[in-house]
Amino acid sequence: MTDAPTHPDRRDQVAANLAAVRRRIAVACDEAGRDPAEVSLVVVTKFFPASDVRLLADLGVTDVGENRHQEAQAKAAECADLGLRWHFIGGLQSNKAGAVASYADVVESVDRVKLVAPLSRGAHSRSHAVDVLLQVSLDPPGADHRSGADPGDLDELARAVEGAGMLRLRGLMAVAPLGHDPATAFARLAEIREEFVAEHPDATVLSAGMSGDLEAAVAHGATHVRVGSAVLGPRPSVQ
Ligand SMILES: *Cc1c(COP(=O)(O)O)cnc(C)c1O
Repeated sequence: MTDAPTHPDRRDQVAANLAAVRRRIAVACDEAGRDPAEVSLVVVTKFFPASDVRLLADLGVTDVGENRHQEAQAKAAECADLGLRWHFIGGLQSNKAGAVASYADVVESVDRVKLVAPLSRGAHSRSHAVDVLLQVSLDPPGADHRSGADPGDLDELARAVEGAGMLRLRGLMAVAPLGHDPATAFARLAEIREEFVAEHPDATVLSAGMSGDLEAAVAHGATHVRVGSAVLGPRPSVQ
């Protein structure tokens, strides 16, 4: 391991941020009349070094999220000893999906049928079942840069995942569209989810909410929030 030792100030800062985020989740649960144990925190570590992942594990974080394959693969390998659950939350290319399934425990961004066969092959190759969330688009119809499946396409996608070996359909994931009220978007998501769970009763996970809108997501039933900057600080703006 070549990680430089983490500066004590970094540890204090991340610990304080983490405590603040956990408090926000607890308050949001309280206001929604929910048990905080129903809401899991996934810390999004994209752009941050493996030393921060190690620090998070030491502070009791169990789940981390990454959105770019190469970065995720390298960090997961470097941190393999930590026993973390790795969530892949970024846009997936079908030619990378198999590789993603070889280290991700949860793939949250499955939005088209074409991804299912390579994910299943990747999971088989390591003999390890991969949890799958279907990413549903909350963008207004016709919006540019839509990511996520159309709500109307979820059933077909769900059946493809259920029919594939080594993939476990666990639920839905969504991102509130930029420039729109997250509460409105997550209210719609809650309706989509209700219909979805009626057809797929084991797929009860709802991954929604980030640093800026986790309260709205918890109010509308999120079981997982994906929080990056509120825990680790601002990311470099260059992508
Ligand atoms: C980066 C990212 C997050 C975390 O965003 P923050 O605003 O830093 O909390 C959550 N979900 C997805 C899909 C992301 O890409």
